[in-house]
Amino acid sequence: MNQKQWDFLKNKFEAGQLGHAYLFSGKDVTSIEIFAKEFVRLVNCLSSQILPDGKLGNNKYNYCEGKTWEDKCQNCKMIERGVFPDLLTITSLQSESSTKNEKDMMSIEIEQLRQAQNFLSYKSFYGAFKAVIIHNAERLTFEAQNCFLKNLEEPRGETIIFLISSKPDMLLPTITSRCQEMKFFQIGEHQSSKDEQKILKELLNIMTSDLAVKFQYAKNVNLDEGNLNKILGILQRYFRDLLLLKIGVTLKTPVIESKNFTIGQIKKAIKLIGDISHQSNTTNVNSKLALEIVLLEL
Ligand SMILES: [Zn+2]
Repeated sequence: MNQKQWDFLKNKFEAGQLGHAYLFSGKDVTSIEIFAKEFVRLVNCLSSQILPDGKLGNNKYNYCEGKTWEDKCQNCKMIERGVFPDLLTITSLQSESSTKNEKDMMSIEIEQLRQAQNFLSYKSFYGAFKAVIIHNAERLTFEAQNCFLKNLEEPRGETIIFLISSKPDMLLPTITSRCQEMKFFQIGEHQSSKDEQKILKELLNIMTSDLAVKFQYAKNVNLDEGNLNKILGILQRYFRDLLLLKIGVTLKTPVIESKNFTIGQIKKAIKLIGDISHQSNTTNVNSKLALEIVLLEL
């Protein structure tokens, strides 16, 4: 997953050209956070030191990847256990699913950023790099963002900061301009099964049909046991691929355009499907109604 981004960063690291601050943007912030943590493991892995024979090239780095737990180095083990003292993860105190009254708790406050600054002011204990991961960075308050500018501008020693955000537009331009942005897409990671291809074919037919056909489909299709999520997932992947096609990205698997959607319509569809699938996962929505709402918009 996200092999391109991984190879890019790994090459930079091995060439000694790693940046100090990266903005990782993409919808799936959870998997981006896993990616960032994995990268922190890579740069701090004790097996990635130059081997005693000093050979370069392929022999230079020899990470703990694929090793059994016993054979892994101390740093890799600590990072995997979540107890590595040179890695700090900053996150808002409340999660996405917090109730409205708790909304103000969702921001990342200046005190949390001061904690990160304090952390960065000390030398690393075990690793080569001190790393800070800021999850949902768009939740940084205005003050917190301003407070952090200095760290992005004048990093001390070997530090690496990852800002992760699904809404990078909400960050101050002074922040984004000091980070190297990397976009994460969810493509190519999914091989559709025969069953999924069949469902997509039906959905593509339905998109070009009238309302009666759409309602009929929502009425008859089996929506038990997570099938709504399956259908929404298929639609979301389809529209993401379509969007990439529209902006000129060549995809491995060709995308069929059943209708001539504009980029605006595609973005709207992706957002709607995302919202509906979020609701269906967190609340007790009527599956048929949810599917009807989506189909009406397509
Ligand atoms: Zn290791």
